[in-house]
This record gives sequence, C-alpha cells and structure tokens, in this order.
Amino acid sequence: MFACQRDSYARSFKSTVKSCEPVKFESADAFEVILEDTVLFPEGGGQPDDRGTVGGVPVKRVVRRGSNAVHIVQEKLDVGAEVETVVDWKRRFDNMQQHSGQHLITALAINKWNYKTTSWNLGEAKSFLELDCKSLPTEQIDELECMVNNAILECRPMTPRLVESGSDELNEIRSRGLPADHVGPVRVVEIQGIDSNMCCGTHVSNISHLQAIKLLHTESKRGHTLLYYVAGQRALALLQRCVDTERQLTRLLSCGPEEHPQFVDRLLKTQKTTTKVLRNQLVEIAELLVAKHLAEKPPKPVLSIHREEGDMSFMNALASGLEGQDVVLFVTCGPDKGPGPFLVAGPADKVSSLGPKIAKVLDGKGGGRGARYQGKANSFAKRADAEALLQE
Ligand SMILES: [Zn+2]
Repeated sequence: MFACQRDSYARSFKSTVKSCEPVKFESADAFEVILEDTVLFPEGGGQPDDRGTVGGVPVKRVVRRGSNAVHIVQEKLDVGAEVETVVDWKRRFDNMQQHSGQHLITALAINKWNYKTTSWNLGEAKSFLELDCKSLPTEQIDELECMVNNAILECRPMTPRLVESGSDELNEIRSRGLPADHVGPVRVVEIQGIDSNMCCGTHVSNISHLQAIKLLHTESKRGHTLLYYVAGQRALALLQRCVDTERQLTRLLSCGPEEHPQFVDRLLKTQKTTTKVLRNQLVEIAELLVAKHLAEKPPKPVLSIHREEGDMSFMNALASGLEGQDVVLFVTCGPDKGPGPFLVAGPADKVSSLGPKIAKVLDGKGGGRGARYQGKANSFAKRADAEALLQE
C-alpha cells in the first residue's frame, strides 16, 4: 500500500528517490521517478491518477507498475535524495468524493434491487455507473437518491483494510477482479454496515465527507443503464451553474423561473409562425419584383437583387418567375458585407460562363448546370464588381 492508500487525507509526504530514468512523454524529454513511498495515487480502480509535485517539480502523470508508482516529471531528481511529494488536493478530494460516492450508490442499488454495477467512469464534469438493469424508472432514481443522501446523514465510517487473498472472507466480498500482476493481501474498503468492496482507490474516511449526491439522468447502453451523478463539491458547483443560468433567463425573459418553460415554449411557437409568415412574404415580394421587371417593354437583360433577409426560397422564387425569359438574374442574400448565398440564373450559355467568374469575385464557391448556378460567397464587399460582369 502506498502512503496515499494508508491515509487518503495526507497531503504531503517525505520520501527518498529510488530511481530516475530518462523517458519520452508526449514527445518531450521527461523522467520516470520511483520513490520509496508516495502520497500521489497512481491510476486504478477507475480513479484517475493524481497531480502534484515531487521535490517541487510538477508531476505530469502517475502510473502503477507492479508494486511501484511511477511519477512522470520534467526535471531530473537525484537518486538517494529526500524529496517531498505534495498532492494537488483539490483534484484529489474531488476524485475521492466521486469514487466513494460510486461505492455508496453501487452498494445501495445492489442491496435494494440487486442491480449490479458492471463499470463506472469518473468524468470531467459528471460521472456515471453502469447498472445491469434495462432501465431505471424515475421513482427508483428518486428512491436511490434519497437512500444515498440518508446514508450520508448517518455519518458512517469508510475504512480500508487488508484481507488475505484466498481467505473465506475475501470470497464473500464483491470485486470486479484483481489486476493480473497483483500479489499479496487484498485491500478492501468498507462502508460500515452497508458495503465491503475490493478497491485500491483513495476514499473519504467517513461518508459524511461526501456532503451530498445528486443523481442526474440515465442513458441506455446495450441492455444496461448508465446512471449519471455528481458528488460533493461538484453537486454545489452544478447547483451554482443552474442558479446562474436561471438568473440570466429571469433577466432575459422578465418572468420568474417557474414560468420559464411555458414562456420559452410560447416564444418558440411564435418564432415558428413568424418565420413561416416571413418566408411566404419574401416569396410574394419575389413574384412582385419579377412582375415589375417583366412589365417593362422590353425587359432589361439583367436583374440584380440583394436582400438581407432573403433565403433560398426567395432566390428560387425569383429564378422560377424568370424561367424561359432572356434575362440574367443575379441575387445575393445576407448581411451587406457578406457572407451569404448567391444565385445566377437565366439562359444556360450565359449562366455557365458567368457563374464561376462571379463566384471568384465574391471569394466564394458554387456550382450548377444549365439555367442555374448557385453558391456561397465569403464576402459581398465586391458585389458591384460582380454586377459589372453581367453588363459585359
Ligand atoms: Zn473503488
């Protein structure tokens, strides 16, 4: 056992450098340092490795190799020197809260419904455990959350101990298997009166240190259920984010949080209707523009239109209206200085020669065959130049 496993609350520890070997890490020069003992936890049991310092040098990774923890650092350390290892406590305590939280949720889900945890993941923002049940109804999620938080209120000790491998006691204890290179006694972590579980991780000493656990939502995965959760400080941080978002929405919508969903629902419906009305009116405008152009006798050979709020249906309505006429249509939509879509339509021979030239002037790309050439311009800054091409 490493110092971090004997006392998961030790934040620093003095030890001797056993070896220091040069190595490449993320294609940079680095060193692999092995110490007599360490408070930096190497990856294991689903828990990520610690960060911190060894002899003042930042640690990039800590990996377990047999019974050793290998620290990857960027500076050479003298073999035989006494150095202090200091753990990045904020990151570690967060890992402890998520990992111990997983043990507690796992234990209660199995005790209550016999849902076994087949794997778990400690994520950057939220973690999940995979339960061997097809689904977890809302009532069960609520009940499990309630049980988990009641257990936290009971302030039960959580303690690691060593059990001889092959002993009868060990056979009773739940495990997802030991690493292939494991030798000697097995570390068991116990939540008093609730659970015993083989685990190498660093854990809280009392489950009251979990503060609170919030179960978030589930996801189906090949007949199993992923149950997402946050524990401890993460639950508070999540609550703060929700409060901030809620306050912003209250300001933007000028109504209380309980009215937010209905308000946004109304807003979206209104927007949908408005968009439809706008689109229909744009098509009508396009038809009127075509009619006006064709009313001139004879019609001018070129019709050039830019419309900021225009869209594809506007452009298509113009092109359809002029179909069969000896008129070259050039239409652009979007903000005055671009980017936005453009369309060239008219007699096929003219369109096929003009289209690529216009695309080039507008710093864009396009394509098409026959009577229509359409594309996307990166900028309408040189729209007048493009228009000039039509007069040639
Ligand atoms: Zn564990």
